Amino acid sequence: MEEKQVVFVTGGSRGIGKAIALKYAENGYNVVINYVSDKTDVEELEKEFKGKGAETLILKADVSNSEQVEEVVKKAIEKFGKIDVLVNNAGITRDMLLMRMKEEDFDKVIEINLKGTFLVTKAVTPYMMKKRNGRIINLSSVVGVTGNAGQCNYSASKAGIIGFTKSIAKELASRNIRANAVAPGFIDTDMTSVLSDDVKDNINAQIPMKRMGTAQEIANVVYFLGSEESSYITGQVINIDGGMVM
Ligand code: NAP
Repeated sequence: MEEKQVVFVTGGSRGIGKAIALKYAENGYNVVINYVSDKTDVEELEKEFKGKGAETLILKADVSNSEQVEEVVKKAIEKFGKIDVLVNNAGITRDMLLMRMKEEDFDKVIEINLKGTFLVTKAVTPYMMKKRNGRIINLSSVVGVTGNAGQCNYSASKAGIIGFTKSIAKELASRNIRANAVAPGFIDTDMTSVLSDDVKDNINAQIPMKRMGTAQEIANVVYFLGSEESSYITGQVINIDGGMVM
């Protein structure tokens, strides 16, 4: 029997990350995920992934903490021996207009979204290099391309992820490691559930497809970018946004 491939999805406990991890599980991958909240029901998650035929390693670890990141990667390698696909998905928002944004809210978003992506990629890449094979997919956002009032911290982190992705794509291509980013538009998850109905209606009106996207619609593209079907694609940013940005 062929050895199962392994995906590591950061922040795979909810929303887009969970949909991505489940998509890989359904397609025969074993799954590593991390989370930070004490509310996370690890047993329930394990059961759900087992139902898809996947073995899992589910650990509490903050992506912005290098020691915790190294520990997760070490445990993943001990359990599965390799990581074939890394999805840097963990992310937060702390929205506020520039004039009222606190320094700590700027720092927190950059630390988790951008530095977290760097720390996890740095910890995983040596194992991919050894295998001369790997795929990295980073979650950016349309607002990393366009900017967005009230999100200067978040937009900066997501624009940073684009520069980071293109740079590592150039560094790692010769080792047969591909790196791409996806830039989702407005996707129906806990992250956007805080928006009022008025704000949501306003956003939907500006989307050519007139609706928010689903986590599944992001997972489908992230799965494609981690598969052999995308074997000649690296350093790209794929918008998944119902036509918001063209
Ligand atoms: P979400 O529903 O809020 O889920 C966030 C996930 O990240 C959770 O699993 C959370 O873990 C985890 N997480 C947060 N901080 C973490 C940390 N410090 N260390 C490890 N894990 C952490 O978010 P989402 O909507 O699915 O978004 C997923 C990604 O897509 C993010 O990078 C986001 O910026 C990006 N994105 C989302 C949208 C959208 O409209 N939803 C649009 C564009 C881009 P816990 O469960 O433990 O809290």
